[in-house]
Amino acid sequence: MYDSVIFDHDGVLTTLVDISLLQDATWAAFDELGVVDPDPDHVRQMVINVSLEDVHTVAGAYDLDPETLFRVRDEFSSSYQCDAVADGRKVPYDDFDAIRRIDAPMGIVSSNQQATIDYVLDHLDAAELFGTAYGREPSLTSLHRKKPEPYYLELAMSDLGVESPLFVGDSDSDIAAANAAGVDSAFIRRDHRADHTPSPDPTHEVSGLDDLLAIDGVPVVDDVTAADGEALR
Ligand SMILES: [Mg+2]
Repeated sequence: MYDSVIFDHDGVLTTLVDISLLQDATWAAFDELGVVDPDPDHVRQMVINVSLEDVHTVAGAYDLDPETLFRVRDEFSSSYQCDAVADGRKVPYDDFDAIRRIDAPMGIVSSNQQATIDYVLDHLDAAELFGTAYGREPSLTSLHRKKPEPYYLELAMSDLGVESPLFVGDSDSDIAAANAAGVDSAFIRRDHRADHTPSPDPTHEVSGLDDLLAIDGVPVVDDVTAADGEALR
């Protein structure tokens, strides 16, 4: 039996934003830093899947402090995403409420900014569902810690006081982080992953959050209890 369920956030609990939003945020970050005419390739390097090497290369080209560049980039990326949550461009998936039937502690481990995760949970009034919720801090240190590293997953397990969570994600880095932490994984095949072959192999594959409830070992409240809970709400 799993003693908890821990989720990735983007592409699992809430929909992805259009890449153009993250590109716009990155252009705005360069503008904020006084770089009015950055090389588009440098901007592109700072949008997603940013490596430490990318940050140093791009910062060097404009005589910027790498830590400052990355922090401002993260602040704008988060701010733009929070705006998208506020106006309904980034929303919980239709099956989000299925996780309310999971009868075990739940957590979030995301590579999005902590500020983004905090905003989403507050906006959805869903903070009480999760015993712990990690994003990244807006610093270069976080690039050494994010998935596929197990760092935040292990912190979440410690916070929840659990040893055998099921980790649910939509990316290879999620499955790799679960493996590194020595826990089982479930790959969720949302529409944006229709043709993806997950690597490494996940323990389970599901098409949505509803399917999680059918996995052997995921504790689920029985229908009567769930119905009572609804009635009491
Ligand atoms: Mg994801």
